[in-house]
This record gives sequence, C-alpha cells and structure tokens, in this order.
Amino acid sequence: MAGQRDIFVTRSSMPPFEEYVDEIRSLWETHWLTNMGAKHEALRAALKAYFCLQGGDIDLFTNGHMALELSLQAMNLQGEVITTPFTFASTTHAIVRNGLTPVFCDVDPVTFTMDATKIESLITDRTCAILPVHVYGNVCDVEVIERIAHKYELKVIYDAAHTFGETYKGKSTATFGDVSCFSFHATKVFHTIEGGAACFRDAAFGKKLYQLKNFGIKNAECVDGIGANAKMNEFCAAMGLCNLRHVDEEIEKRGRVAARYRERLADVPGLQLNAVQQDVKPNYAYFPIIIDEKTFGATREDVFDALAAHGIHARKYFYPLTNTFECFHGAFDVAKTPVALHISRRVLTLPMYADLAIADVDRIADIVLACRPQGRTGGEAR
Ligand SMILES: *Cc1c(COP(=O)(O)O)cnc(C)c1O
Repeated sequence: MAGQRDIFVTRSSMPPFEEYVDEIRSLWETHWLTNMGAKHEALRAALKAYFCLQGGDIDLFTNGHMALELSLQAMNLQGEVITTPFTFASTTHAIVRNGLTPVFCDVDPVTFTMDATKIESLITDRTCAILPVHVYGNVCDVEVIERIAHKYELKVIYDAAHTFGETYKGKSTATFGDVSCFSFHATKVFHTIEGGAACFRDAAFGKKLYQLKNFGIKNAECVDGIGANAKMNEFCAAMGLCNLRHVDEEIEKRGRVAARYRERLADVPGLQLNAVQQDVKPNYAYFPIIIDEKTFGATREDVFDALAAHGIHARKYFYPLTNTFECFHGAFDVAKTPVALHISRRVLTLPMYADLAIADVDRIADIVLACRPQGRTGGEAR
C-alpha cells in the first residue's frame, strides 16, 4: 500500500545511540579492538551471570555457527551424529564440515523439535553424538535426551540459537547437554551484530574450544590444534553489553506481539500456532503458523504471496529441510523425516520483533484471514 513501510520478518533491536557511543568510548583510549579485550571479558561475565551458569562456563565467538562447528571439533568426534533436518543450514553444515555424518531424526508435530521417542532406533555402533535444536525457542525433550545420551555414552550438543533468555523448570537453556551454542546474530532476540557463544561445564573442553577459536594457539611458542579464527571483537561485545541491559524488556514487548497474534489467529480452522510449553519461560523468538490448505482453504504460498503484495515479508522458515539441500546431492532420504517434510511445506513465520506495532499485527492477521475462501468474498466465517 502506498506510503506504508515494508515490514520484514524481523527488525534488529538497537540500544539508544548514546549508550553505544558511551560503551565504545574507552576503545579510543586503549586501542584494544579484538583478541579477548575488556568488552569481551565484561560480556562473558555478564552472560555467565544472566544464564546463572554457576559451575559452568561460557566462551564468545564471532558467530553462532563457529561456536557450534568448533564445539564439535573440540570433542574429537568420529562417526554419526543424530540431528534434525528442521533447522537452519548452520546445524547440518557444522556436522558435515567436521567430517561427521548426520543421521536425521524426525520432529515432533507440535514443538517441531527432535522427536525424542525416535532417537534410540537411529543409534548404531557409529553414533557419537546427538545434536538437537530448540526450534523457535521450543525447548527439546531435554530429560529424555539426557537419559538416552547417558545410556549410550553419547555427547549432546544443543543448537540453542533460538532460546536466548529462556528457562526450562527454572534452569537456563544454556545449561543443557555437554554444550549449548547460541547465536547472537542481528536477527536474534539478543544480538552482538554478529556473534555467538558456547556454554559448557567441562573446563578441559573449554580450554580446547578457546584454543580452536584462536588458530589452535596454546601459547606463544606452541600451536597444538588446527584451529580457526572465531574471536568476538570489542565493538560486537560492546553492542552485546548494551543490548543485554534491555533484553528482558524486549522479550516482554515481544510477548505482547505474540499475545495479539494469538488473539487474532487462535482457533482458526486450518491454522496451527506454535506450542505453548509447560515449564518454559518463553522468549517469543518467532511466530510460526502452520497452514493446512485443506481446512484453511488457501496454501502457505497463497498467504506468503498475499502478505508480500502488501509489503509484508514473512519467511518460509525452515524450508527447505537441510536433508534436501542441493549441496548434499541426494545423500539423505527425506522420506525418513515425513513430519518435518509436512511442516516445512506448510510453515510460515510471521513478522515478530519487539517494536512491531499492534496495529501492524492486526493488519497482518487481516491479510492472513482474508486468504480464506470466505475471506476473499468478504463473508463471515461459517
Ligand atoms: C541463527 C542460527 C544459527 C547460526 O548462527 P549465526 O550466528 O548466524 O552463525 C544456527 N542455528 C540456528 C537454528 C539459527 O537460527
């Protein structure tokens, strides 16, 4: 519509400009811009407190992907990793880039996370780890996964990119598995422009991981790992320090957006909304809807196109599934993850960010509902 700004699926949170300038002022005095400087260490400490890690620890990375990829490398794994195809490219690539073989487990039709009841049937004598994803902030079946991992002596690496600020039974999602990896990308609930973190308990693992993010350098005269460069710089850490002061308020504002979407879209035949999980303090990271074309009367593509025609850019997130990516040349059989395939063909994530106006939520809901046959003729729902 003329005059109206386009609305994207997300919009990065920004601290007040003056607050960021104040935060980076000292860098003009120290000239220490990267390599674990004062901002890096301050953010590490602040996040350790925010996640209530107690005995555990956290390290920071240039992005979430490197936290994940280097965590796998630091574990010296070989063989198969049980994971999910209903995720961002990063998860599967982290496995394959480590020379490991992903084995895809189907997902739960309500939470879209790995269906923990299907994990055991995928375990072979080559299985070394489980890499589940807390999709849209929906927390995985962490208790069952822990029990299976313990029984078969498997490592557990959580892709926790979507769960910043969440707790399950009062415990931060940073505390589950051998390691939980976060993304602080600009599009996430909490961001450092680009950035990421790994949270873990084993200090020896932490040391190895730290070396791998700094070229494998052990000390000035010893390089004993084939590392990468994945250090978070001071400007990104400073952005994190600012954003962390506002993140709880941002999550609260997201909650209001989610509540309005729910008021408008709950109980609409053919629309499935995201799960509301017991025992989880949510962060409202995304607002996915699953559109069943037979009942709703329009397809996901119809709704996507209708929104786009109004300058509203929803995302088919996660579509396509990672086990269908061209780069894998048909190595994986998508028929083995039918629920994930069903969901990925019907899911649409609607715009969701703290400052999304309630009037815009209403406009988006109106456009979605008008895609129905009765909506198109302007009639009431029958
Ligand atoms: C964003 C994201 C990542 C990767 O994070 P980057 O910081 O962009 O590298 C990994 N996994 C999931 C599920 C994500 O959403």
